[in-house]
Amino acid sequence: MGITKILIIALLIWAAYKVYLVVKFRTKNSDYYGLNKKIIPCSFCKTHIPLTSAIKVNNKYFCSTDHSKNA
Ligand SMILES: [Zn+2]
Repeated sequence: MGITKILIIALLIWAAYKVYLVVKFRTKNSDYYGLNKKIIPCSFCKTHIPLTSAIKVNNKYFCSTDHSKNA
């Protein structure tokens, strides 16, 4: 086995590892951004707001605490 062959194998392992890291990172992030991008309407005024900033009362979502009082 020549040094060139060893280098190519090492490079392939390194490349595979890099691809694995990128795929792992993207999967994790798409989940995170997927949740942040979810837009739902306020049950009172129908204003569309991100799910992460919505207020949940009685299984309904509201844009503000003021509107959640109308639940
Ligand atoms: Zn509202």
